[in-house]
Amino acid sequence: MDAVRIRFPQGELAALREQLLGDRSRESFALLFGQHHCIGDQRLIKVVGVCQPRAEDYESRGLAHLRLKRDYVYARLVEMQQRGDVNTLIDVHTHPFSPSGVTFSGVDDHDEIAFHQWLSKTLDDIHYASIVLSQSDYSARFWTQDDGDTTAHPARIKTQTVLENWPCTDESPLADERLSALDLQSGFLARGVLALGRDTLHQIVHDQCIAVVGVGGLGSVIAENLVHSGFHHLLLIDHDQVEITNLNRIVGAYARDAETNRLKTEVVKEHLERINPAARIEALPMEIEDDRLLPALARVDWILVATDNHGSRFEAQQIALRFGIPLISVGVNIKVSGGRITDMSGEVILARAGDRLCLNCLGRVSPTKVAAESVDGLGAELAHRGYVSGRDVKEPAVKTLNAILGAMTVDVLVNQYTQRQELPPILVFENNGLPCIYPDTESVAHRRKDCFHCG
Ligand SMILES: [Zn+2]
Ligand SMILES: [Zn+2]
Repeated sequence: MDAVRIRFPQGELAALREQLLGDRSRESFALLFGQHHCIGDQRLIKVVGVCQPRAEDYESRGLAHLRLKRDYVYARLVEMQQRGDVNTLIDVHTHPFSPSGVTFSGVDDHDEIAFHQWLSKTLDDIHYASIVLSQSDYSARFWTQDDGDTTAHPARIKTQTVLENWPCTDESPLADERLSALDLQSGFLARGVLALGRDTLHQIVHDQCIAVVGVGGLGSVIAENLVHSGFHHLLLIDHDQVEITNLNRIVGAYARDAETNRLKTEVVKEHLERINPAARIEALPMEIEDDRLLPALARVDWILVATDNHGSRFEAQQIALRFGIPLISVGVNIKVSGGRITDMSGEVILARAGDRLCLNCLGRVSPTKVAAESVDGLGAELAHRGYVSGRDVKEPAVKTLNAILGAMTVDVLVNQYTQRQELPPILVFENNGLPCIYPDTESVAHRRKDCFHCG
């Protein structure tokens, strides 16, 4: 089994650390509720709730021990059953005496094994994991039980941004040949290091995996920008082939690729590998609705969506929400009326788990259009009645607009590693009158607050 991933919503791990480690004179405890997913050979837990005991819920606590009252634990189990959307308990406690290199103690082992055995006997299908925090790192594990044997498996915390995460004691720094890219004299990323700093690029190069959904005019520009920015592991998802009419904008696509109907993912992959042969580029020529993508997608650190239809944007957002993966969506629009461009614009939307906004409540996916695209015949019927534009209508598209929005997308992503700017969730580029970039605060303020999808 791969290390089990425990995914935290935006800001939640930082808040938890601050609350639990504030008191350095004694151990502290919190109980997290989670949703457990088994995808292929991996397990993933999405944290959906945090319960902090009050002072009176502790039976006793000191510098190197703590015990909770039974009633407190029972009450949380009842709460969990009543919620109905939770199937995992994660207990978190601190070792405030330990400055770094934190490990579970013999007492922790004993208590957790006993609790897990009791839990498995008492409730069906409940999973159990635990985290111990020191002042500067953590250790985490996931418990399973087979024929009475209780086993601890390694687990890793994933936060929405790398900056919020903490080092894991059990992870030794790997010798990574990819890091030679950061060599200031002769490395491929030497100039990038001068701009972004070695620490930032180290994180990007070392272990970040980015999925790009849709590698057409926008997605191919994004993928190229990602590789130029140092990202070493990309998933390219698109089932389309290159057509002659794509050649005005797909980066890396040549006339010959259109003549021989090559897959967009293959063409773009080849282009990226020419730029950086050390990069790991996976071509996945499937529709985003294809379940075979899930094991690969469950592992990624970011999903970037650059498709031109509502159905695939909706599906990508659903996967991101289900697994707690941060998402960036980008779209462009060109309207022409009477032979003149009346609108040329685009927008980049940042939606991390825990931000309490998504493409649904922002009104960026329309249920009518999603239905039109997914049900055979319905699209034509709705188009006929004027609800949606016909599926086969070719939209106007130009490279310059794609290039600007593609670069903006990767800039928004890189900012998640540097936090150089306080970026708003929606950034608009408008090329009408004078070109300008501005935040769309109105859509954010007026989004549906009771969103069923991200609430
Ligand atoms: Zn302990
Ligand atoms: Zn929402």
